Parts: sequence; C-alpha cells; structure tokens
Amino acid sequence: MTRSASLFEQAQKHIPGGVNSPVRAFAGVGGTPLFFKHAEGAYVVDEDDKRYVDYVGSWGPMILGHGHPEVLNAVRAQIEHGLSYGAPTALEVEMADLVCSLVPSMDMVRMVSSGTEATMSAIRLARGYTGRDSIIKFEGCYHGHSDSLLVKAGSGALTLGVPSSPGVPAAFAQHTITLPFNDLDAVAACLAEKADEVACIIVEPVAGNMNCVPPVPGFLEGLREQCDKYGVVLIFDEVMTGFRVALGGAQAHFGITPDLSTFGKVIGGGMPVACFGGKKEVMSYIAPLGPVYQAGTLSGNPLAMAAGIATLKLISRPGFHAELTDYTQRLLQGLQERADAAGIPFTTTQAGGMFGLYFTDRKNITSFADATSCNVEHFKQFFHLMLEGGVYLAPSAFEAGFTSIALGDTEMQITLDAAEKAFAKMKSE
Ligand code: PMP
Repeated sequence: MTRSASLFEQAQKHIPGGVNSPVRAFAGVGGTPLFFKHAEGAYVVDEDDKRYVDYVGSWGPMILGHGHPEVLNAVRAQIEHGLSYGAPTALEVEMADLVCSLVPSMDMVRMVSSGTEATMSAIRLARGYTGRDSIIKFEGCYHGHSDSLLVKAGSGALTLGVPSSPGVPAAFAQHTITLPFNDLDAVAACLAEKADEVACIIVEPVAGNMNCVPPVPGFLEGLREQCDKYGVVLIFDEVMTGFRVALGGAQAHFGITPDLSTFGKVIGGGMPVACFGGKKEVMSYIAPLGPVYQAGTLSGNPLAMAAGIATLKLISRPGFHAELTDYTQRLLQGLQERADAAGIPFTTTQAGGMFGLYFTDRKNITSFADATSCNVEHFKQFFHLMLEGGVYLAPSAFEAGFTSIALGDTEMQITLDAAEKAFAKMKSE
C-alpha cells in the first residue's frame, strides 16, 4: 500500500471523505488521492516521494511556481513581527494601493480570507446598494459555497453531481436566477421582465469551474450594457481569472469595466487572501463607511499580505503574462497534435495562463452543455495515465488547468511525452 493510500484510509476516520475540500478526494476521476508533502518550482512531491509536473498550482494561486524565494522571504521577514494583530497595518495599505493600481475598476477594496467570503460580501453589498433581492448567476459558474450561490453551481458541486446543494433553504435559492452562460438573449429577456428585482449579475468572465469556457464575443459587453440599462450591479468574479488571464484580470483582457470585482487565489500567493472592491459609490455602502455589514478576524492578515504583495510585484514585471500565455499555448498545441496523431477526439480552450482539455469531437466549446457533453471516461483514463507519467492535472473533467511561470522546456517535454504515451494507450484500449 502506498503512503498516500494509507493516509487516505486514516484520514477518513476524522475528516469527512478524508479531505477538507471535496474535489481533492478524486471523486471525479476515481482512485486514491495523492497526499503531498513538498512543492518546489513547477513540481509537487507526494508522500511516496514521486514528483509531478504541477498543472493545478493549488487551484490557481501558485502562478510563480511553488516556494518562490522572494515570496518566502517576505513571509519569513513578517513572521518575526507576529502572526496577527486584528488591527490596521501598513501592509494592508500597500496591498490596497497595489490592487487598485493594477485593477483600474477598483477605487476601493476590502480584504477577506477566501473567495467564498469575497463573492458573498459583494452580493450583500449589491443587494444593500440597490435595495433589490434577486441575483443572476450562470449555470456551471462557481462562486464559492455561500447559500445563494450554490444553485446550479460548477466546480466540486458539479463534479460530485450536487450542483444545487441540500441545506440551502428554498427561500434563499428563490432569489437566485440561473441563466445559461454566454446567452445574452436570456439575460435581456429576464431583465426586461424583472429588472426591478435584480440587484446584480455575477459572472466568471472566463468560466473556469465547468472546465474552461471563454466568453463568446459580445457576451461580456452585452452584460455591461444590460446592467447599465437597468441599474443592475455587474460583478466580475475574478477569483480564478484575476492576475492570471492578464495582469489586470479578465476585465483588462476583454476591456470591460465591472462595478464590483472579486479576486482570490493569486492575490495571496498561496496564503488565504481574497478581496472584493470596485466603484467608490458602491463600496461606500460597506461598514464602517456605510450600512452594509462585513467583517473578518483574520482579514488582511499580515503574513498573507506579505505573501500577496510579493507575488503581485513579481508578476507585474513586463512580459510575465506573455510568457505564461506562450507556454500555455505551446502546451495545448503539443497536446492537440498528439491527440490528433492517435485519433483521439480532443480539443482545448485557453485564456492566458488557464486552460481546458476536452475529450470531444466538437471544436467550439461555448456553453455548459458543450462542456458537460465531453467524454468523462476518456478524461479519467487520461488523468491517471498522466499521473503515471509524472504529470498532475486537476482531478476533475470540470475544472480549468493552470500554468505557472516556473514551467519550462524540461516540463513541456515531460508533459508531452506522457501525453503521447497516454493517447497511444487510450487508442489501443
Ligand atoms: N469564485 C471562483 C470563480 C472560484 O473559482 C472559486 C474557487 N475555486 C471561488 C469563487 C471560491 O473561492 P474559495 O475556494 O477561496 O472560497
């Protein structure tokens, strides 16, 4: 028995399902989850000392690769001054200035500790600001696990087959309107009927929790227009896309200005940080400036700020995102060529340093239906064959993949060699 397998057995005694977040249990791919004990650069190392080229990056944060020395040094330096004060710090001021300068739609920003908190707070703020109760989200988009948002959700909820979770009172879910992603007509029709009930539209500008589905041209622009027309708050959930699709997030990449945005993952460089922010007029409704309540014991934690600030500075260097995008593009092209050579139906999607792998004949993936119609059995097979070949992909057919700047020619070769063997094996079976 491997050490991972024995730890998994032991873990299940006191941890539900043996994990602290559901997709980690390999529920989407079968088999035993790997337990990691170390990570460095482009690699993660499991409890059995096997190294893997990492395309999960802690589900997005590790855009610099693991253990970047400047990030570790920033945390080490802060440790000497204590772990938490629950009082304002200079680091928070620096972080807020940095985020607002990188993301021009942000006049003001509030730090929190998870993406779930960020989206939950942004929605409360939109409701408080507009005095309206309903929200519009899109099927297959995941915005964390707060009650209003666990309706037709993506990510682990989709992987486990519970997109609308028990435990969410019908009275809450009733205020969540779910529409098809990339379907602007559906948004226009809905708002024409009930705009005076709708506080906000929340959207992942590139949907990364049902695999990776980019917006069709005009979709995000159309959301902006519809929101302007009806006084609805437009929220871009950039927890995944932020600082990854481009330095200024998907909003910079697509040139759309939301009213509020949420960021997470990269902003903490691997520490628990997320934030929400946007227009001053709306943000002024947040306590203590305004009446909408929101708070956090560990919000703006100094160690987390130190890691986040160091990360944001490092990724701000010219050329960073172009390099990340280039590696991702070459990776996907290499995979496509090898799948084609083996005759395996396969296609890919990409937005900067995030990508989707689809086992399907379709060439154009634009909807939840497209994303979920791909061959999950092929994905499972591919996932396990890639693991054998030393490559760690997200353990679900419904999650985006992430690249880091630590990936180079060696890792490209390992990945493409593993894929060539995997596709050949899949063809022979
Ligand atoms: N929004 C999006 C777009 C996400 O991808 C996620 C997490 N994957 C969240 C919100 C929730 O973030 P967290 O897991 O930090 O609560």
